[in-house]
Amino acid sequence: MNIENVVIVGSGPAGHTAAIYTARAQLQPLMFEGMMAGGVAAGGQLTTTTDIENFPGFPEPILGLDLMDRMRKQSLQAGTRIETKTVEKVDLKVTPFKVFFDGGGFVQTKALIIATGATAKRLGVKGEDLFWQKGISACAVCDGGLPIFRNKILAVIGGGDTACEEALYLTKFASKVFLFVRRDVLRASKAMQERILHHPKVEIAWETHVIEALGDKVINKIKTRHAKTAEEHLIDVSGLFYAVGHKPNADFLNGQIALDDGGYILTKLGTTQTNVPGVFACGDVQDKHYRQAITAAGSGCMAAIEVDHYLKEND
Ligand code: FAD
Ligand code: NAP
Repeated sequence: MNIENVVIVGSGPAGHTAAIYTARAQLQPLMFEGMMAGGVAAGGQLTTTTDIENFPGFPEPILGLDLMDRMRKQSLQAGTRIETKTVEKVDLKVTPFKVFFDGGGFVQTKALIIATGATAKRLGVKGEDLFWQKGISACAVCDGGLPIFRNKILAVIGGGDTACEEALYLTKFASKVFLFVRRDVLRASKAMQERILHHPKVEIAWETHVIEALGDKVINKIKTRHAKTAEEHLIDVSGLFYAVGHKPNADFLNGQIALDDGGYILTKLGTTQTNVPGVFACGDVQDKHYRQAITAAGSGCMAAIEVDHYLKEND
């Protein structure tokens, strides 16, 4: 059986940067880009957003989908082979490593780059399962323009950049947007805070939890509880959007790589090396601090260069 030099799992900015660099280093990388793995399309989290305004080289905003299309094209042009399959499990106890993908096949590889990113978290509030995709969504940019949300009162949960961005996005369609923040401060960047705090259509409910979703066929109300006073309210909303962070996509590793308490892959400081020699991790799956497209891309470049060195020393 053919043994690959390097397999890359994941197709966001980290995976594609690793692919471009390993391909240019003549390592003939094989990428598994995933098939809605972790609930995200191939191309990763940026495919769920609109304008990207902070990726260097694009002085005019570029759509997340377009940026990821360009990265994919560049990976292919450099010589990467891309399989639209999801990796279901790996065996890292054998060398070469075994990488099992959906459909029942597997490949063997000398080195592995994990670039599987992260997935939006759910909250588990009462009624969530009943109204999921019936008024509750984890992606305002994907779903916010639907007719059921137009000129209606909508709500977003979270206090980070995503929550603010989603709330601002929804103001294009909604009559009003509530932002439910569990603390008395926003985690979002100062620039984002400026925009949200002064928006006439946005009302921020500080220190407030959403505890239940109610409705008929679709959501029409939420129950909230104040974090300090425990006061509860019923509020009419036609849509509820979650923006409460992400879970790293590391379940398929099945405990074979060391993770931190939040489930992020642990890497040796200043490198992308995991606790298993020959396995490297880059992007959001190992980064709980920065979580940006450019830092994901940067760490993808690091992983590729480290794989090249690893193969030269060990092959
Ligand atoms: P991801 O982009 O998460 O991609 C990982 C890919 O791997 C996914 O396609 C997934 O399906 C695939 N995958 C997962 N598991 C498997 C598997 N088992 N097998 C095969 N494939 C798998 N950052 C910015 O810099 N600027 C912005 O404006 C910005 N806006 C954002 C807006 C939103 C709504 C969100 C959610 C994030 C935003 N970010 C932004 C953050 C940015 O998207 C991430 O930091 C970046 O995409 C992380 O890249 P990644 O390559 O690590 O992983
Ligand atoms: P995040 O920064 O982790 O923020 C998650 C938010 O959800 C926090 O405010 C958190 O509250 C809140 N939260 C978590 N669990 C909750 C719960 N159970 N109930 C209520 N609220 C809860 O995640 P993010 O906003 O998705 O951002 C992820 C990364 O992507 C960040 O690095 C961000 O900068 C980046 N991003 C960038 C842009 C941009 O640059 N335009 C846009 C989007 C995202 P606490 O604050 O209390 O913890």
